[in-house]
Parts: sequence; C-alpha cells; structure tokens
Amino acid sequence: MGRLIAIANQKGGVGKTTTAVNLAVALAADHRKVLLVDLDPQGNASSGLIADIRLNELKSSGKTIYEAMVSGLPIAEVIREARGARLHLAPSGPDLVGAEIELATREGRERVLKQILAPIRDRYAFIIVDTPPSLGLLTLNSLVAADSVIVPMQCEYYALEGLSALLGTIRRVRSALNPALEIEGLVLTMFDARNRLSHEIGREVQKHFPEKIFESVIPRSVRMSESPSHGLSVLEYDAKSAGAEAYRNLAAELIARIANDGGGTTAKRAVAAKAATNAAAGRPWSLRALFARDRARSQR
Ligand code: ATP
Ligand code: MG
Repeated sequence: MGRLIAIANQKGGVGKTTTAVNLAVALAADHRKVLLVDLDPQGNASSGLIADIRLNELKSSGKTIYEAMVSGLPIAEVIREARGARLHLAPSGPDLVGAEIELATREGRERVLKQILAPIRDRYAFIIVDTPPSLGLLTLNSLVAADSVIVPMQCEYYALEGLSALLGTIRRVRSALNPALEIEGLVLTMFDARNRLSHEIGREVQKHFPEKIFESVIPRSVRMSESPSHGLSVLEYDAKSAGAEAYRNLAAELIARIANDGGGTTAKRAVAAKAATNAAAGRPWSLRALFARDRARSQR
C-alpha cells in the first residue's frame, strides 16, 4: 500500500503547498505513481499544478474533494490526471470552506478522509495531502488518514513558535485516533544561504530534532515563487534551478528513508533515516554543505 503523507504546519505561508506540489512532481518524475490531495479551501495546490482554463472548468464541475468528503461522491470520480497517468490530483473546490462546519456534527468526522481514500490507496506509491494553515477538522482528517507528516519550516525568527502546538496535536491524534502516525521529517524552506538567521534557525531545528530534520534544504528562490502562476512546479518551470534541485533531493531522501521500512520498527526506520541523511549530505542543497560554507565564510 502506498505511503500517505500529510504536509502540515498551522502557520501560514511557510511552504506547505510549494512542498506538496514540488515533492509530488519530483516523486512522479522518479517513476512513482503519486496522488496529490488538495485539502486546503484556498486551492493553491490545485492552481499550482493546473493552468487557469482547465482549473475553472474543474472547480465548477462539482467533482472536487469537497463533494467526496461531504456528499459521498466516489473519490475515483474526483481524481484527475495532472501529469499523465503518473501524477493525479484530487482538487480542492470553493465549497471546501464550509466542510469543517458541515462535517462538525457527523459521527466519525475525523475519519472521513481516511474512509474515502481507502478504496484507491493501493493504486499509488505516494499520496501527498496539502493541508490548510490551521489545526481544524480538515488538517485533523489528514493526520488521521496519514502514515506520516512532513512539517515545512520557514527559516524565520518565529519558525519554532507554534511547532509545539502541532506536535501536541500529533501526539493526541496518535493516542486517540491513529497510533501509527509518524513524523516523517521537518524540512527547512525558504533558506537564504547569505542570511545569518537562516543558518541560526537551521542549527536550532537540528539541535531540537536531530533525528527528524531532513538533510535536504529548500532555498529561497524567485523561480520557485514564479512557477505556481504558470500552473507548473519549479521542476518543470526551471529544471536547472536550485529550487528544482532541492526538491529532487528531498524526494530522493524521502524515498531512501522509507525504502527499508516495509512496515518495520521505529529503530529500523531510524537507521534508514540516518542512511538517507548521510546520502543527502553530499549534495549542494544539504544542511551540512550549507553549514560548512557558512563556517568557512565566518573564518575568513
Ligand atoms: P498557506 O499557509 O497559505 O497554505 P503555505 O504554507 O502553503 O501557505 P506556500 O503557499 O507554499 O505556503 O508559500 C507561500 C508563498 O511563498 C508563496 O507565494 C510561494 O510561492 C512562496 N514560496 C514558497 N517557497 C518558496 C521558496 N523556496 N522560495 C521563494 N518563494 C517561495
Ligand atoms: Mg498552502
């Protein structure tokens, strides 16, 4: 069965959607079959992957993740090809805004996403879920459905603020609703190598979560912020850009981390994570390479 990964952080604008879209495209480029589920009423993952004209048709089709969650439309009718057969999208729709309220009184309201995805889970190697910037019912549904969570962290002063709320939510979900939920990893986004603060935040996160931080780091880049307006990932918009390279690294690191998994133990996963981190460390957009350059610069 494919691995279902929620991309979550209740802080807004930290790179969740950018990570969801580019990771999905990078995994698909690596010959994995991927489904991207856009669970954010803002619909940025849908628009970041599909150009305007098709998107308008799609939003008004009445076949979005909203109808699947609220009105019982089979998920297979919602899913579209985004990049041929390899990358599929379950798009967000304008009505998703109301879903939290409409589901609020329903029994088993936290398990709706898990249930609707169940019939199609084994068709994909990865299901990536983009979540809204809140810890509301939609994000909760993604955590209940997921095998693991990736937490994008923007390299800003308050990056760690709010993380404890997310970790607390993950703990509660684990104890009550989804005992198997794991933290896949924390990924640093919008890293500016020339900015002291980015390095400080990187070190801070690494100090607190040495086992969990991804070695692959996502740089801040103009190409990355331009690509969504073209309905393209940065890998398609500018395949040679640093951002594209970074998301390819992250996909490779993720694949390496879970390669040895096979439903394995936590200890086995920790070993796989370490090996993956070491493999990623040789690449240009890796934490260790960035720190080494920073040290060299400060000694000059
Ligand atoms: P929200 O909480 O609103 O859903 P988010 O966490 O999904 O936001 P994104 O939409 O991915 O965050 O990113 C916020 C903005 O920053 C977007 O305009 C995006 O294009 C831009 N952005 C994201 N990552 C980068 C990057 N590495 N370099 C430059 N711009 C970036
Ligand atoms: Mg988003």
